[in-house]
Amino acid sequence: MITQEKQQRNWKPIIKEFEAVLGKNGVVQRREELITYECDGLTSYRQRPAVVVLPRTTEQVAQLVKICDRYSIPFIARGSGTGLSGGALPIENCVLIVTSLMRQILSVDLENQRVVVQPGVINNWVTQTVSGAGFYYAPDPSSQIICSIGGNVAENSGGVHCLKYGVTTNHVLGLKIVTPDGSIVDIGGQIPEMPGYDLTGIFVGSEGTLGIATEITLRILKSAESICVLLADFTTVEAAAESVSDIISAGIIPGGMEMMDNISINAVEDVVATNCYPRDATAILLVEIDGLEVEVAANKQRVAEICLKNGARNITSASDLETRLKLWKGRKAAFAAAGHLSPDYYVQDGVIPRTQLPYVLQEIEALSQKFGYKIANVFHAGDGNLHPLILFDNSVEGALEKVEEVGGEILKLCVKVGGSISGEHGIGADKKCYMPDMFSEIDLETMQWVRQVFNPQGLANPGKIFPTPRTCGEAASASKQQFEGVELF
Ligand SMILES: Cc1cc2nc3c(=O)[nH]c(=O)nc-3n(C[C@H](O)[C@H](O)[C@H](O)COP(=O)(O)OP(=O)(O)OC[C@H]3O[C@@H](n4cnc5c(N)ncnc54)[C@H](O)[C@@H]3O)c2cc1C
Repeated sequence: MITQEKQQRNWKPIIKEFEAVLGKNGVVQRREELITYECDGLTSYRQRPAVVVLPRTTEQVAQLVKICDRYSIPFIARGSGTGLSGGALPIENCVLIVTSLMRQILSVDLENQRVVVQPGVINNWVTQTVSGAGFYYAPDPSSQIICSIGGNVAENSGGVHCLKYGVTTNHVLGLKIVTPDGSIVDIGGQIPEMPGYDLTGIFVGSEGTLGIATEITLRILKSAESICVLLADFTTVEAAAESVSDIISAGIIPGGMEMMDNISINAVEDVVATNCYPRDATAILLVEIDGLEVEVAANKQRVAEICLKNGARNITSASDLETRLKLWKGRKAAFAAAGHLSPDYYVQDGVIPRTQLPYVLQEIEALSQKFGYKIANVFHAGDGNLHPLILFDNSVEGALEKVEEVGGEILKLCVKVGGSISGEHGIGADKKCYMPDMFSEIDLETMQWVRQVFNPQGLANPGKIFPTPRTCGEAASASKQQFEGVELF
């Protein structure tokens, strides 16, 4: 338990200790410099950390964590800060351990299809490093040009190609971690399916609450012989959604299958001008098929037939790299493009069974009408992983609270139809209050036991994932109050 008494601390000797480990340049403490770190991608919640430290090695991370442990200081890991659920949101009087100087690719072993990286390595760099030899790293969040592998591990991130190849957890073989008492521990290994407890499986997706990953062994895949992307455009969302179900029911697992609605299509065309997405379409589907040439040719034909049967107006297809990238460019830029539609937007992340897509999208439209906020939809349709983007203006008094209410209604809808409150963005500070909608008290308690084993002082990323008695939409202020004399979890 951490109390207010403990946090009334004199930072000077602590900062001196941090500087002894990192040098003065590795410690950020000026108020104006700390502003950079006061939020992640969920910008509506902000809290400045007391100090930011920038280690370069596992040993330095371990020494910093030991100092935090000795003084009972809460610490939060941060990669690139693109998280959308407030996972890297600081709490008052915390230390933020930022991995942006831990950017070395430590080893590449093509024969055994693995790469070892430091946690601050950017997702896209892994594929860039091995693509010349015909390999790639499959999990590809839309933020892949900026998000870190450490952040991906903590969030168990997904992406366009996770429908067929699985999310981050399926591509992490082993980890070196620093536990919240500063011990350096190796979990998993260099080969899949190690004996003993699957601690790698527990750590991946634990959102920085079990320690800090400092070396990550990733599995890389051989690039497919042939790849084709189809773009089908529809006059109804239902027809696009039916096509998604029909394609999977036909036994075809595309590399990726994404849907965008009319608002997103126009936002993307305004901003990145692909000139490929028909502006009058109610919805488009992007379907990537990969595999052996003969398999791709057959599946391309079948996917086109299914879409046309469901009422697609046009099908465009591309096999050459340049045109494929052009077709994907709009989808990858969709979140950024939404920034041009309104001063602010709030991204929700829920999962539903694919067959519920038409119903749930109708219900989301009904919520948009009821609350008076436009909602753009762009999502991993094949996985049923929705990303409604609720457009609003945060300068309007009370707008954020209302928008969070809409987001909450969407999550409850996902749970009602048998889905989940998060597909890939994690729970963080933002969605912890919805955990009881999915899990029973004993389920949550069991998860907390695991957390307590790794993190008995509650110092690693406190106040995240698990619900507190507070209501939703109070993450930033709740973080502050949490330190004012009450238990952290
Ligand atoms: C435009 C945009 C598009 C996005 N698209 C996708 C998408 O398609 N799929 C998807 O899954 N996500 C997506 N995201 C969300 C985000 O990019 C991912 O969650 C990503 O994995 C976060 O990485 P990061 O380096 O920014 O982590 P941060 O935001 O810095 O941190 C995220 C969490 O990881 C923890 N953490 C960071 N580093 C470590 C470490 N070394 N050890 C332990 N814990 C650590 C932090 O404490 C925090 O809880 C998107 C975000 C944006 C802004």
